[in-house]
Parts: sequence; C-alpha cells; structure tokens
Amino acid sequence: MGKDAYEQAIEELKKLLIEKGELKASATEKIEQITAELGTQAPGSVATSAAVERIKAGFIHFKKEKYDMSPALYGELAKGQSPKYMVFACSDSRVCPSHILNFQPGEAFVVRNVANMVPPYCQTRYAGAGAAIEYAVLHLKVQNILVIGHSACGGIKGLMSIPDNGAVNSTDFIEDWVKIGLPAKARVKAVHGDAPFGELCTQCEKEAVNLSLGNLLTYPFVRDGLVNKTLALQGGYYDFVKGSFELWGLQFGLSSSFSVKDVATILHWKL
Ligand SMILES: [Zn+2]
Repeated sequence: MGKDAYEQAIEELKKLLIEKGELKASATEKIEQITAELGTQAPGSVATSAAVERIKAGFIHFKKEKYDMSPALYGELAKGQSPKYMVFACSDSRVCPSHILNFQPGEAFVVRNVANMVPPYCQTRYAGAGAAIEYAVLHLKVQNILVIGHSACGGIKGLMSIPDNGAVNSTDFIEDWVKIGLPAKARVKAVHGDAPFGELCTQCEKEAVNLSLGNLLTYPFVRDGLVNKTLALQGGYYDFVKGSFELWGLQFGLSSSFSVKDVATILHWKL
C-alpha cells in the first residue's frame, strides 16, 4: 500500500469517527500516533526501500532464471494445477518445504502455520485449515498429505512450556493455537517424563506430527480417501541442525471410530 493509500485510510478513519460522534481525545491521539508511525515507515525510508529492493531483485531473479527458462512448465500451470501432495509445514523461515524437498511449482499444495498443526475438524474454530484440506482433497484430488515437523520448533517449545496448572494465557493467539498439540505433549511426558526439556521438545516435535495425522482422520473426506485408497498420509521430520529428514507412513485401523492409538508405523526411513 502506498503512502497515499495510507493517508486516505487514515482520513477515512477520522471521517468515520467524526460521523459516529466518537472522536474523543484518546482516539485523536491514537490517530496522530499511527500517522506519525506511518510517516517514519513510508516508502522512501531506508528500511522500506531496502525491503522493496530485495523483493524486486528476488522476483527478477525468479523471472529470469526460472520462469523464462521453463515456458512449458509455466504454460501448463497457467491452465491449472493438479498437485499430488498437500503439505503441512511450520511457518518457521528455515523449513520451507518447497526448498527442502525440492517441490517445483504445481507439485505441492502447502499450508504453513505455527508448529505445523493440523487441527481437528471444527467449522467455527479452524475453518482456514478445513477449507484448505477440503479443497486439496475434494477438488485438487491430492494423493498424499504430508505433515512435516522440524527441529528446534519455537511453537512446540511454547507448547511444552505452558504450565500444567492451567494458568491464563499470556498470548493473544499462540498458546491457544499450539494447545492443539496438548495430547501429544501429554503422551511425550507420560513416556519420557524424566528426560531433559530439550529432549522432551524433540519428542513432541515428532509426536505432534502423529497427532496431526490422527486429526486428519476427523475430516470425513480424508477418511473416504483412505478407505478408497485414493489418499495416503505421511509424517516427516526435518532436522536442520543435523541436516536429516525422516519419513514415515501410517496405516489406520479403519472402523467407525478413529483414535490415534489405531495408528501404526508401516514405513520409516531416514536420510
Ligand atoms: Zn516450527
């Protein structure tokens, strides 16, 4: 958004507040503060121009070295996408799945969030994840859903750091989000309770992937895909300290009800 657009937005906000008769001193002060902040960060400032230049240079590199070099690929992709993979990965800047698994454009439909969580089916709380899974499975007809955990995950560390005494959240969103992984945390503490904190976190980074695979079973279209053998689920773990990747596939005791304990590892390799 350019500076003009920011200024227009601020003007609109002032107008709205005046019209509503709620332009109190504190609101005026807030607007002035926001305007001042925007002024220091407006296009033309050193930080912003460096960011813009980096983005421009990045796209120019991609356009020259990739896009213009593969007209057949990008010509096909212009018509549509049919990725074979849906991937859940952490938002962590070090674990981009396209980078570490060399997925090319069109190969993987990717969702990234804090701690690579797949939440259980819930139309009100987790519509974002649900929409992505529904679209990937029913419309794109992906053949695999891969959930990738990773070493030194800040989200999992946050989950493991939440006190067991039910203390009130100190964050607006993070704790509530990573609490999706509470069953994984409980399992890790039950099995490895005496291990040092770092080891517990590593175990939970992997167990949370299994929990997410279990949560995928709460989506009816995922269950249908597994029953009809049009869909497979895989768990992965990328350790960026050691430079290793583990992959495991899962089979499920397909019955009318599902639980994570029905999950058994059927394939495991490590590179
Ligand atoms: Zn992470």
